Amino acid sequence: MVSTDSTTGDSSTSVGLEVSDLTVRFGATVAVDQVDLDVPAGSVVAVLGPSGCGKSTLLRAVAGLEYPASGSVSYGGRDLAGVPTHKRGFALMFQDGQLFEHLDVAANIAYPLRLRHSRGHRSRLAQRERVAELLDLVGLEGYADRSPGTLSGGERQRVALARALAVDPRLLLLDEPLSALDRGLRERLAAELHDILRAAGATAMLVTHDQEEAFAVADRMAVMRDGRIVQSGTLEEVWSRPADGWTAQFLGYATVLSDDRARRLRELAVPTATWDSVALRRSALRVDPTGPLTARVEEARVTPDQIRVQLDVDGAGSLPAVADPGTDVRVGAQVRVSLDTSRIAPIPQGI
Ligand code: ADP
Repeated sequence: MVSTDSTTGDSSTSVGLEVSDLTVRFGATVAVDQVDLDVPAGSVVAVLGPSGCGKSTLLRAVAGLEYPASGSVSYGGRDLAGVPTHKRGFALMFQDGQLFEHLDVAANIAYPLRLRHSRGHRSRLAQRERVAELLDLVGLEGYADRSPGTLSGGERQRVALARALAVDPRLLLLDEPLSALDRGLRERLAAELHDILRAAGATAMLVTHDQEEAFAVADRMAVMRDGRIVQSGTLEEVWSRPADGWTAQFLGYATVLSDDRARRLRELAVPTATWDSVALRRSALRVDPTGPLTARVEEARVTPDQIRVQLDVDGAGSLPAVADPGTDVRVGAQVRVSLDTSRIAPIPQGI
């Protein structure tokens, strides 16, 4: 796979994808609005955003399938304006895999190799060996002769991934690759996708609306809203410091507090902190007899692992919290509450 050339230290290959000040319009709609995005060679970057934010258009512009109104897309330091899709050395994988139903699994994976072979790149034996290697990589040994119609959704996506990796693309573009799968399978396959991409040494850009998928698969993420990248960084940077309240909630924080409620919570529970706005995960507040906060139980719902409660916290108002199984959290009960500071994030710009 083409990636960093560590023997020569050639920085032009380690640069990877650079999107600079890119704007894509459809008539009056600005689908991608002055976007900057880097995908260093060997890394996996997720572009995370809600439906309609412009992430697929961004991916398509990188692939050369949409034409930017302004800005540039380059790879390895080379501007790709005017370079057609099939000459960019990129591979695409979509939500529905788009397998050829009349070909078996091996032939599906070999398809891009055969296109190359017709241009004299690989012998048939080398093709078969490469297909076996790819089946092994995606955990589908023994599936070579299967027809796509006999595969589960997850197996189909793994075949699609093997096909996308077949010709060692210098950049893999993944458009919601797991979204069509049901939840349990999606989680498992996200972890596998993470491992497969690393094992292949792939450079990849993943676009998704699913924050769990982004966290499970990527090294870095860029959060997109209304055509713009609102925040980018490592997973840890973005997760621990969401740029604003919208981003925090989109990332899965349960509540964002600002103004008096946030200040009151801070004074009572973390007096050394300096934030004025804060995002809380559902489990940030816990019913705890030694906690510094007092509250009244408004609602309680037992789940297999814990009790989910809604509390009226003195000074901070109605907030979600958790309690250990067996805790007395009858509606109306007075309880004490602690705040787990590893489950909160300060918000710099308020809501
Ligand atoms: P996402 O992938 O985040 O759901 P898209 O990139 O598909 O978002 O769309 C971003 C915006 O651009 C939306 O407002 C969408 O309606 C619009 N759009 C996307 N493709 C086209 C197109 N081919 N023609 C006109 N408008 C489009």
